[in-house]
Amino acid sequence: MKRFLLFIFLVIALTLPMVPASVTAQDFGLQEGDDIGFIMPGDAVAAEAEAAPAPGGSAFVMAAPGRVGVGQPFLVRLTSDQPLDSVSIHWLGKEVVPSISVWNNRHVALAMLGTDVLSAKPGKEELSVIASIDGKENTFRRTVQITPVDYPKQELTLPKKMVTPPTEVYDRIKTDRVATSAAKNTLTPQRLWGLPLERPVSGKITSLYGLQRILNGKPKNPHRGQDLRSPMGNPVKSTADGVVILVGEHYYAGNSIYIDHGNGVVSMYFHLSKPIVKEGDKVQRGQAIGLSGMSGRATGPHLHFSLSVLGKLVDPEPLFLNDVDKMLK
Ligand SMILES: [Zn+2]
Repeated sequence: MKRFLLFIFLVIALTLPMVPASVTAQDFGLQEGDDIGFIMPGDAVAAEAEAAPAPGGSAFVMAAPGRVGVGQPFLVRLTSDQPLDSVSIHWLGKEVVPSISVWNNRHVALAMLGTDVLSAKPGKEELSVIASIDGKENTFRRTVQITPVDYPKQELTLPKKMVTPPTEVYDRIKTDRVATSAAKNTLTPQRLWGLPLERPVSGKITSLYGLQRILNGKPKNPHRGQDLRSPMGNPVKSTADGVVILVGEHYYAGNSIYIDHGNGVVSMYFHLSKPIVKEGDKVQRGQAIGLSGMSGRATGPHLHFSLSVLGKLVDPEPLFLNDVDKMLK
């Protein structure tokens, strides 16, 4: 027994120092000692990387998935051993200019993209990246296959007034939409998010992203977020570092908070009983931003969480479960 304990002690003692102390590296999914030529994840297309012998024979690697499910988020990572003057990524008619960081003599740009279960159709979409290296512009194109996802269905029968809002609130709903649409499409130059995201509450998921809802026999928009069990007054945490861009009181969402995490990523928290931050506040990952409740159109206390990526509401689940490296595999 003593020998066994000694063995366990040795194993722990020997492996502990091997755990990387740097959080920055993990932020990009890069490991100390990674070779620039070999960090291509399995799904990255080799031809794309080979087609990119940048000026002066430098290495430039673009990692992005070849296939993505409808509604699913994904990452694009560019790594160069030459300084990246600028990078712009084009996807579904939107452009994001990711912030560039230097780590271990490599220049890295990381962006989150995705499609929305409401509007995305299975098929091919083009992803293009323009990277300026040493004053020379290089364009890389990649075809991303959007694949169907079999999201669950739910039939509900609800009192008519809960399904169709009364006409006197139409104007209010319209005004809400203008404010929320602007917030969802916020695009700021500095990336503040990192992966995995923090779950805003610890309660279990009661309604999944993508759920096809049929109310009183009529198909409604799919659920574009997650409902999480959360009792009245339970603290709700920010999913990542960011800046509060909207604290609203809306017809459907009730008391809601929108947080900008940079480079087109915005998180949303609905049905709160009370927000405890105000617009302009800087928040950290895990910081309490409000108390959960059942304001707006909610049948009971819970938290509705949504994540907008360049205005597309994506499934947040993979971002809670995976770090950057896993997302790129
Ligand atoms: Zn919901």
